[in-house]
Amino acid sequence: MLLELSNIFKWVNSGGNRIFLLKDINLKIEEGEFISIMGPSGSGKSTLLHVIGMLDNFNEGEYHFLHENVNRLKEKQRTRLYKQYIGFVFQAYHLIDELTVYENIETPLLYQDVKSSERKAMVADMLDRFNIVGKKDLFPAQLSGGQQQIVGIARALISKPKLILADEPTGNLNSKQGEEIMQLFKQLNEEGVTVIQVTHSEKNAEYGSRIINLMDGKIEF
Ligand code: ADP
Ligand code: MG
Repeated sequence: MLLELSNIFKWVNSGGNRIFLLKDINLKIEEGEFISIMGPSGSGKSTLLHVIGMLDNFNEGEYHFLHENVNRLKEKQRTRLYKQYIGFVFQAYHLIDELTVYENIETPLLYQDVKSSERKAMVADMLDRFNIVGKKDLFPAQLSGGQQQIVGIARALISKPKLILADEPTGNLNSKQGEEIMQLFKQLNEEGVTVIQVTHSEKNAEYGSRIINLMDGKIEF
C-alpha cells in the first residue's frame, strides 16, 4: 500500500456554518496505480490532491503514507516525507520565470543535500530523457506551453518521487501536446511511478487504471 485515506473530512467555517470541502473520503492506493480523479468544477478535486500531497491539512480522519501516520508527523517530518516521495505537476506549470530551463529543473535539488557535481549529472539526465538539451539555457517564456509542461514534469521527477500528483496537467495544452504529456505519464507509470491525475477529459482518464469521481467533496460510487 502506498497510501490510505480513512474518513477524511475537511471544512472551512463561514458565518457560523461549516462548509465541507471533503466529506468522508476513504481511499486506498497501491504502488504502481495510475488514477484519474474526475468531477465537476468545485467538487474538491484540487483539495483532495493537495491533501494527498500534504500541501493542505484536513480536519478529521487519518492519512497513512508508506506506513507513516501523516497527521501525527511534525511539520518538518511531513515536509521531508513529501519532498522525498512526491512530485507535483500543475496546470499552469509554476515555473520560475527568471530561471532557465536548467535552473528550474535543478531547483528541488537545492533544498536537498545533493552535491553540485551530482546535481549536474541528474539535471543532464533529465534534459536528455525529455529531449530538451538544446533548450537548457532558455527561459520559460521562450518555450511553448507543451515544452513548459515537460520542464514542469522534469522538475517534478528530478528527486525520483514514488508518486506524481498532476492537477489538470494538460488543461492549458492543445490536444497534440496533451497527448504527449499523457504518453509521458503512461511511460513513467510503466516504470513503476504511481500517478494520480485530475482531469476533465474522458480520453485522458482512459490512460489510468481507475477513475475516482468526486461530487460535492464526496467520492461517488
Ligand atoms: P475543484 O478542483 O474540483 O474545482 P477545489 O478543490 O478547488 O475544486 O474546491 C472545492 C470547493 O471548495 C470549491 O467550492 C471552492 O470554492 C472551495 N474552497 C477551496 N478552498 C477553499 C478555502 N480555502 N476556503 C473556502 N472555500 C474553499
Ligand atoms: Mg481544481
